[in-house]
Amino acid sequence: AQMELKAFANIASRSCDGHELKLMANVEFPEELEIADNIGIDGIGLYRSEFLFLNCSEMPSEEQQFEQYVSLVRHMGDKPVTMRLLDIGGDKPWRYHDLTTNIDGGANPSMGLRGVRLLLRWPDVLRCQLRAMLRAGEEGTVHILIPMVTTCEEVKQVREIAEQCYSELGLKKPLSIGTMIEVPGTALIADEIAKVSDFFSIGTNDLTQYTLAADRTDEEVAHLYQSGHAAILQLIKLSAAAAKRAGIPVSVCGELSANPEWTATFLNLDMDCLSMSLNKVLKIRRELSRQKYEPIL
Ligand code: PEP
Ligand code: MG
Repeated sequence: AQMELKAFANIASRSCDGHELKLMANVEFPEELEIADNIGIDGIGLYRSEFLFLNCSEMPSEEQQFEQYVSLVRHMGDKPVTMRLLDIGGDKPWRYHDLTTNIDGGANPSMGLRGVRLLLRWPDVLRCQLRAMLRAGEEGTVHILIPMVTTCEEVKQVREIAEQCYSELGLKKPLSIGTMIEVPGTALIADEIAKVSDFFSIGTNDLTQYTLAADRTDEEVAHLYQSGHAAILQLIKLSAAAAKRAGIPVSVCGELSANPEWTATFLNLDMDCLSMSLNKVLKIRRELSRQKYEPIL
């Protein structure tokens, strides 16, 4: 089977009848990309920027962030890189006590101050990160992704700050800014969210956790993540249909994107991209090559 998978390295990601579905990588550290060249990926669909922050005891400076971001962009050449804004809180606790006086994760951190909620409480941190990402974007194709969105207002506020940074820096091309769909309520108002978003990326890990009331870090309920619960499919369909109506791209970046039992569904829901750990890409490319495109939206 290993040999067979190798045959899917460095080829286009298509169904048996030629319909393209881009397969991209979820990346936490730039070093992971060393193996990407042996696989052939269509871009980075999710760069989890928080890992840069979790590994230092002090908040990384704009320059330190820029260096890491631009190294990803340079490595990918003309392929797109979707950089997610800092998503700490929840299962990724922070250590910057100097910045977090009077802020903690709350009694239930996964429902507390995390993702964009935290960023909007730390506008200086958000600005610094946006500036570094916008600068890196000048050297390639960068999309910015907002984590844990629950309201249109959150998206609008981030966009406003990004626009300020963009004009302060005197940059040439605006970057696209998209929304993570990972809270059930957000999927339910996907038409409204699409009006203020340049693209959607569906985070099935948190979407599953919140929809099925099953803590993603609790082994006892881990079986719920692989079950492919019908409620998750409903929310994914709503999001994909809203994206289609609004004419914006939509992708899946949670663990379900690496589950071959879901590949045909994602193909047929007109996903633009599936983003997953690098070591799953060949398996999904092979599965995709066995499926026929039969649109269901
Ligand atoms: C998700 O929630 O599905 C996701 C991709 O983000 P993370 O796993 O980093 O929370
Ligand atoms: Mg998430």
